[in-house]
Parts: sequence; C-alpha cells; structure tokens
Amino acid sequence: MTPLTIEKATSLTYRTELAMNNQKNADGTCVRWRVNGAVKTWKTQPERFEIPVKHGMYDFGYVTNKNYFYFHLNGSCPNCG
Ligand SMILES: [Zn+2]
Repeated sequence: MTPLTIEKATSLTYRTELAMNNQKNADGTCVRWRVNGAVKTWKTQPERFEIPVKHGMYDFGYVTNKNYFYFHLNGSCPNCG
C-alpha cells in the first residue's frame, strides 16, 4: 500500500483515484474516490489543504489535512479494484 502523505496529497492531479484504508465495497475491494478539482491551499495556514473528491454519481467530499491518512493511492494494495 502506498499511503497518502501530505506531500503526495498536495501534488495530486485531476481524476487521480484514491482508495480508503478501512472501507471496503461489498466485493471486498477498497472504496475509491476520484480527485474532482484543484488542490486548494492557504498561504496564511500552511498546514491546511483541501482536495475535492467524488465517489460514484452523487457523493462529493474533500480530502484534507485532517483526513488524508485514511487514504492510499488506488492500485497500491492487493484489495484495490
Ligand atoms: Zn487498496
């Protein structure tokens, strides 16, 4: 598994697929989220970042400095789809 680090997270590009460390689909594969826009950072808060992500047709969210460690790069573990 290639865990998501702050360095990797903030250099992600549009449509990159991420997989969740501890959430599986019914078929046992890792739940996947896809980068859906540009990484946002703040000059005044250097530790903060937000990456818009999408799951399926209707689920939208953000990978941020507070949850990036729940993800790995899709394809980097035996359970990735
Ligand atoms: Zn995986």
